Amino acid sequence: MLTVAQARERILAGIQALPPLELRLQDALGAVLADDVRAPHALPRFANSAMDGYAVRSRDIEKASEAHPVVLRLIGEIKAGEGDRLKIEAGSCARIMTGAPIPTGADAVVPIELARGEGAEVAVLATPPVHGHVRPAGDDVHSGDLVVAEGSELGAAEIAMLASLGISPVMVRPRPRVAIVVTGDELVDVEVDPEPGRIRDSNSFALRALVTEAGGDPVPYRTVGDDLEEVTDVLREAAAAAALVVSAGGVSVGRYDFVKEAVERLGSIEFWRVAMQPGKPVVSGRIGEKPFLGLPGNPVSVHIGFEQFVRPVLRKMQGRTELLRPVIPASLTQPLHKRPGRLHFVRVALKQGPDGVLATPIGKQGSHIQSSLIGCDGVARFDIDQTELHPGDLVDVEVWRVPAG
Ligand code: AMP
Ligand code: MG
Repeated sequence: MLTVAQARERILAGIQALPPLELRLQDALGAVLADDVRAPHALPRFANSAMDGYAVRSRDIEKASEAHPVVLRLIGEIKAGEGDRLKIEAGSCARIMTGAPIPTGADAVVPIELARGEGAEVAVLATPPVHGHVRPAGDDVHSGDLVVAEGSELGAAEIAMLASLGISPVMVRPRPRVAIVVTGDELVDVEVDPEPGRIRDSNSFALRALVTEAGGDPVPYRTVGDDLEEVTDVLREAAAAAALVVSAGGVSVGRYDFVKEAVERLGSIEFWRVAMQPGKPVVSGRIGEKPFLGLPGNPVSVHIGFEQFVRPVLRKMQGRTELLRPVIPASLTQPLHKRPGRLHFVRVALKQGPDGVLATPIGKQGSHIQSSLIGCDGVARFDIDQTELHPGDLVDVEVWRVPAG
């Protein structure tokens, strides 16, 4: 049986980044940049004032003080948005607003609070340093600087930077469309009160949320009964409309588990089963050209299988550089034991302790125990051949979110 790392490597080897497309900057939040962006010009583009005040030649007012003000001739005013039209000569100054270009000849700004203007004269009460309160061209970014790297997700900061540099439309990778197919004769819709023996479908909700959080676009399909023809039809339809097909349920060894057979009909199976718990009977394959991942139906298996395999695939399709969750060492607070042979993903809550992060396993760990996904900050890896872990042992935790408390 493949290890989790081997399985993931094999899956990712068959995945390419989606072809880039152009988006207007206002539509690009959350998209992933397809190329490095270099600054086409400096920021600020021109030297400008950091204060409302007076643009001066600093050597004119070297000796200015409260007791001995230096009086300058006021030759005009420069508002933000105006071009450079004034020239500051010896003994003169111009009123200037924040963001307005520093006029020719000036090399500093005296803040309004350190001067007294009367008519055409300004008494300067203190000496600003040379270049004081001037924001020089290129202070923030030089022309040609790499400002946002390929593979970066565009958040508020990146989008604002690209706006300052006039970069719209922008080349990004699209959100991958992910077809979601859930199987099981027992499933009813959320709004239906299940008859005896039937249950509400939660996996399609989980998968839609997980896909969206991972940067994909979920495309839900109708719930499929445990019937080979029906499973085959829906998977064929799903693959035609998406970059990736993800299913839940029907991949185990039961008499009514038809997903593998359907995928074999429509394409091929690359592997089945991974040495992990929960989620062992995961299937990887192709439906036509499209990658397919079949997760077992237990709700926690869906969640863990998504984290281990689907999320990295979606991130690779988006051209992201970091495919996996961050891993941190944490100190286990409770003992754990298991049989060797499978890597267990233990749902944990994380907390900052006096000497580092503490990881506390949450409740029961069965693959049907949905309640221990609530309040879960990540999973501790209980390694394949380990059988005992003791309180205080350091474990590797794959962090899903920054803990609440
Ligand atoms: P399976 O992998 O099809 O054998 O399903 C394993 C377990 O997960 C069974 O107890 C199913 O009833 C349950 N299950 C399957 N699909 C879903 C679903 N969509 N929502 C909630 N539970 C499910
Ligand atoms: Mg089933």
